[in-house]
Amino acid sequence: MCSNYSPEHVTYTWDCLQRLKSGSRAVFTQPPLPFKCPGAPQKIVYLTADRLRQQGILKDCSLNYYVHAPVIFGVPFFARELVKIAARYGIKVHYQHNLVAVDGSMKTATFEKVSEQNKGERITVPFDMLHVSPPQSPPDEIKSSPLVNAAGWVEVNQNSMQHVRYPNVFSLGDVNSTPNSKTAAAVRKQAPVVVDNILHMMGKRAVEGGYDGYASCPLTTAFGKDILAEFIYGGKVTPTLPLNPAKEHWVGWWIKVTGLPLMYWNYMLKGYVWFPKHNTAFKGDVA
Ligand SMILES: Cc1cc2nc3c(=O)[nH]c(=O)nc-3n(C[C@H](O)[C@H](O)[C@H](O)COP(=O)(O)OP(=O)(O)OC[C@H]3O[C@@H](n4cnc5c(N)ncnc54)[C@H](O)[C@@H]3O)c2cc1C
Repeated sequence: MCSNYSPEHVTYTWDCLQRLKSGSRAVFTQPPLPFKCPGAPQKIVYLTADRLRQQGILKDCSLNYYVHAPVIFGVPFFARELVKIAARYGIKVHYQHNLVAVDGSMKTATFEKVSEQNKGERITVPFDMLHVSPPQSPPDEIKSSPLVNAAGWVEVNQNSMQHVRYPNVFSLGDVNSTPNSKTAAAVRKQAPVVVDNILHMMGKRAVEGGYDGYASCPLTTAFGKDILAEFIYGGKVTPTLPLNPAKEHWVGWWIKVTGLPLMYWNYMLKGYVWFPKHNTAFKGDVA
């Protein structure tokens, strides 16, 4: 059993993956929203499948992906492509299933169905490798503070990042209530808005909305390939590059493994605010 969501154990995922052999059963989970990075639970499914394909044993193994939501990805434009990619690998996707128990010694995982028709029904499935994406919440210190909404997230305006009850409080990142996907890419776009608005307040000028819900998720669909999903509020697709955002491409992989770490360590963490603008005029985002 492994999880890329645990920094201490993430390399163990690779150990588990390497131990898969012909006949192995790999099981993957996606928890209820919200969770960090909408694509992370499924990136590992595709990478596992691609590794088995490279070894020539994909068709002899079973890969089952249990998803809490009724869809594979929240943005329909990308969900359509991801469903095809899962089918290409022979991955069985089970929607509206929530992991509720794991028996390590027996190597079984129990899921509860969450659809209206089958609510509460349980199934137990055997596994040789189980990759878990755990349910997630704000830290207790935040949840127990007066800053939060009923669900425990810091309650801010979704465009200005200003607190809805305490005007001198701004919040950005995963801990806040804005309905964007929880990604570092979102933080990158929220940070300049927060800085501008604090300067506006200090200069006795009006606070402005400026954050449009941008999030980005490099969906690793194979070793060396990626769909670079970029989108804003409402599921509108906003690609930065002049490439078809629905298609897997090596450029997205390069960005993921080389470009983004460079951007993160050398620009974002040092507080530089210039980044390429995303293309809000993209017209391919029809449902
Ligand atoms: C497996 C995985 C894959 C991801 N892939 C991507 C991706 O491809 N692209 C992307 O853009 N994003 C991705 N993300 C999401 C990204 O990592 C987060 O959105 C981002 O880190 C959010 O930054 P943050 O500063 O808001 O929160 P965090 O990075 O969670 O930082 C919060 C910090 O607060 C600390 N903390 C908690 N409680 C306290 C306390 N009481 N006192 C002091 N400190 C405290 C925590 O230790 C932590 O260091 C991924 C996340 C995961 C887990």
